[in-house]
Amino acid sequence: MYGCADEKQPSETIGASKLRKIGFEALVGGKKCVEAARENGLDAYAACGAYRGPDFRDDSWLAQDVHGRRQRWFSSTCPTRKEVRAYNLSVVKEIAGWKGIKGVIIDGARFASPSSGEIKDGIADPDAFFTCFCPACMNKARKMGFDPVAMQKAAAGLYDYLHGMPVRIERHMEGLYEWMEFRRLSTTEHLLDFAKTVKSVNPDLKTGIFIFTPSLNKLVGQHYRDLAGAMDIFSPMIYRCYKEISGPACLNVELADLLAMLQGAKDLTDSDRIRVLSGLTGLVLSDGEDTASIRKGLDIEVLREETSRSRVQTPGAVLAPIIEFDDPQLEEALNKTLEGGADAVNFFAYQDDILEAQAQLLQKAAFS
Ligand SMILES: [Zn+2]
Repeated sequence: MYGCADEKQPSETIGASKLRKIGFEALVGGKKCVEAARENGLDAYAACGAYRGPDFRDDSWLAQDVHGRRQRWFSSTCPTRKEVRAYNLSVVKEIAGWKGIKGVIIDGARFASPSSGEIKDGIADPDAFFTCFCPACMNKARKMGFDPVAMQKAAAGLYDYLHGMPVRIERHMEGLYEWMEFRRLSTTEHLLDFAKTVKSVNPDLKTGIFIFTPSLNKLVGQHYRDLAGAMDIFSPMIYRCYKEISGPACLNVELADLLAMLQGAKDLTDSDRIRVLSGLTGLVLSDGEDTASIRKGLDIEVLREETSRSRVQTPGAVLAPIIEFDDPQLEEALNKTLEGGADAVNFFAYQDDILEAQAQLLQKAAFS
C-alpha cells in the first residue's frame, strides 16, 4: 500500500495495523509511513521524489519549452540540471540510511508528459510537454552526441503542427526520435545513479521505480529495459479511471490529453487521430472512442495488458503494478493485474473508507 500514513497523524491511528490483519505485506511512503510499517510488522519501503528541492524553487530552474518559455510541470525543475540531480542523490543517500527499510522507490524521474503541465482552461497545459530545451539541456545533448538544434527544430515543428500550422510533419520525424532518445538517455543516466547510490549505502536494499506504463513510458524517457539489473522492483502506474482533471501518469487522463493535443493536427481525421494515438501508445483504441470517453476511464482489460507488457520487459525483477485503490471494480482489477503476470499489487493510495468496505475481498485475495 502506498501512502498509508498521513504525515500529521500519530502512527497508531493510521491504517497499518488494519492492513497487516487483512494480509498486506508492505507499506511505501515517507518517514511516518515507514515507522508505521515497522511498528506493525510490515515491510517498509521509502519513497522519494526526483527533480525538486528547497533551493530550486525560483523560475530559473524550470524547464524551458521549444520557444524558450519556462514551464511548470509536476512541481519539478528541468530534468537534467546537475545541481538538482546531485541534491536528489544526496536525499536518496540519506533516505537509504533510514532504519529498518527494505528498499527505496523513486518517483518522478522523467521528462514532462502530456498531462504534466499546470491546469489552464480546465486542461493540463500541453506546452509543458515540449521541454526541455534550456541551455543546460542543449549543452548536455551536444556532449551526448545529439544535434540539439535539429532536435529543437523538430520539436518546434511538432508544436506548430499541433497548433494547426501547415507543417510537413514527416520531415521532422528523425529529429523527434532524437528528442525522445535524448529524454531516454538522460533519464536512464539518473536512474542508474539512483540505483548505485542506494546500493552504496546498503547493497541489500532493494531499488524500485514508479514508472509510466508501457503505453506511455517512452514519451517521458523511462525505458524498462535500460534499467534491467539496476532496479529490483518495477511499479508501473496503471491508473485507468482517475477522476481528477490533473492526473500525470494516469492512463485515461494522459491519453485524453494526448488526443486533445492531436486535435490541432488539421490534416488528420478523428479516426486518424485515434490510429496515431494507438500507434504511439500500443493500446488498441476503437474509432468510437473519443477524448471524453477515454477521459472517463479505460476498460478494465487494460490492467492485464499493461501488466503483461511490463512483465516481458522486466525479467528477473519484482513486478508490482500500482493500481487505483478506489477502482469501482477492485476485485476484477486485482485479478486482471495478477493475470498479467504481476508478482504483487500495490495500491494508490490508502483510504480508510475503501479499506473498510473492501476488507473482506482484500483479505480473501491476500490469503488465497
Ligand atoms: Zn533543461
